[in-house]
Amino acid sequence: MSDQSSGLELQKLTMNFGTVRAVDDVDLALPEGQFVCLLGPSGCGKTTLLRLIAGLQTPTSGDIVFNGRSIVDVPSHKRDFGMVFQSLALFPHLTIAENIAYSLRIRGQSAAQTKARVDVLLDMVHMSGVGDRRITQLSGGQRQRVAIARALAISPRLFLLDEPLSALDAKLREAMQVELRQLQRDLGITTIVVTHDQREAMTMADHVVIMKDGKVQQNGSPLDIYRKPATAFVADFIGSSNLLPCLVTGNSVVSVFGQTVTIANMSDDLKTGDDAVLSVRPENLHIHTDGSHSAMNIAATVTFIRDLGSQVEIMLTHGNHQLVATMTPKDRPGVSIGDTVAVEFSGDACTVVPV
Ligand code: ATP
Repeated sequence: MSDQSSGLELQKLTMNFGTVRAVDDVDLALPEGQFVCLLGPSGCGKTTLLRLIAGLQTPTSGDIVFNGRSIVDVPSHKRDFGMVFQSLALFPHLTIAENIAYSLRIRGQSAAQTKARVDVLLDMVHMSGVGDRRITQLSGGQRQRVAIARALAISPRLFLLDEPLSALDAKLREAMQVELRQLQRDLGITTIVVTHDQREAMTMADHVVIMKDGKVQQNGSPLDIYRKPATAFVADFIGSSNLLPCLVTGNSVVSVFGQTVTIANMSDDLKTGDDAVLSVRPENLHIHTDGSHSAMNIAATVTFIRDLGSQVEIMLTHGNHQLVATMTPKDRPGVSIGDTVAVEFSGDACTVVPV
């Protein structure tokens, strides 16, 4: 376990590639000992941000401060960070144990020290007793574990992973997410993982950083972000959301489709008279076939029903607007495609953000 404090601060960090600004003026303090996910769509700059932290790229401007000291001028190999990349980059001609031992050997550790450490790491990733197998004899999940063990061999001060699970099939990927999270919790090492998969981020992270166009849109705990998205982009990216146009008519009050609703969470950037976006999660829309049950309801037409076994999704339209409601099978309303229904929701379940 790393016994050093691992506070990481990014200060006005910017990275340009020619005319492309991959990372744009990022200010971020990443909590020590936490599992952080950098999350965002393809091209938003998350890999570049990770590479800057790793020292594989030099920022155009700004600073990276680790344990109170600037590290922008410290070469990558002297930062003592562990890294796992999408490609894994394992040495195919070496055994599992030799792969894990590699960085220990080049750091001059004795054969006995190295063997002891490799045994601990093999045990940590549930691969005890198979250290002499070749990389080519391993499954995708086993290779993943070797790459993780290899990166952890040096007891890094920060653990960085770029889309580490993307090559795995869905089931194994989900199992590895839980394994990686448990390992991080046991070690207590600050870990930063790049992913474009919001479900993966929600599974693993204590702290999520959501990026778009090189900028941080929002960062915080997954549940806080889910409940109080700061922008329409975040609301849609973290779990799907129904995004409806509305007008701010007062303090925490909006008009949506001509009806007035008092809202639980409204962005501080909004004032009366502003056009805004109301975000309401699919699980918070309720469908009634026997007329409205509360003040806030929208008449909508059922366009599609997706039955996923454990969950039912009902797609609807209201004018030009698409809506989706989700429920458990036992709460499924008796509706068919083409039916007109009342869709209801409470202002308590809504967040209103700028357009
Ligand atoms: P993905 O999920 O697709 O890997 P990402 O969010 O990790 O995307 P980056 O790889 O950081 O995004 O790329 C951010 C932007 O910077 C993109 O527009 C990309 O084309 C550009 N970019 C990244 N690396 C380079 C490079 N070496 N040279 C030129 N442009 C680059």
